[in-house]
Amino acid sequence: MSRVWDDTSKMKNKNQKMQVLKEDLIKYSKQIGILDIEIPELVFYGEEYKEIVTPVLTRHGLSSNRGGRYTKKFGHCSYYSRIIFVNIRANRHLRELRNTLVHELCHYRFRHISHKLIHRRIKLILKGKQYPKKHITYPQVPFI
Ligand SMILES: [Zn+2]
Repeated sequence: MSRVWDDTSKMKNKNQKMQVLKEDLIKYSKQIGILDIEIPELVFYGEEYKEIVTPVLTRHGLSSNRGGRYTKKFGHCSYYSRIIFVNIRANRHLRELRNTLVHELCHYRFRHISHKLIHRRIKLILKGKQYPKKHITYPQVPFI
C-alpha cells in the first residue's frame, strides 16, 4: 500500500471523527442540561484553542502562561470562552475522544466536582442519564 493512500485514509478518518464529535457535542450538551445558547464551541487543535482562549483570559486579568502545551493534552475546557478542546491529533479511538468530550462537558456543566465523580458521571451520561437545565455563569477563578 502506498504512503499517499495511508495518509489520505487517515485524514478521512479524522474528519469523520470530528463530524461525529460535533454531533455528540449537541446531543450530550442537551442531555446534561446545558442551555441551547450556552452550548460551548468545540475545537480540535491546540493552536486554535489557545488563540481563542488566551485573549479572553487576559481580558479577565488572568494569563494562561501555558505556551503551546495545549497541543499535548487530550482535552481542555474554558468557561470564559465557552469553548471545549478535544485533541484530534492524539490519534485515539472515537470512543476515547468521546470520553474526553463528555469529560470536558462535565467540567463545564458541573464545574467544581472531582475527577472521581466526573468518571462516574461519564459512564451514566454515556448510558443516557439526563440532568436538569442549568445556566452556566462565569466563575471567579478559572478552571485549570
Ligand atoms: Zn478534567
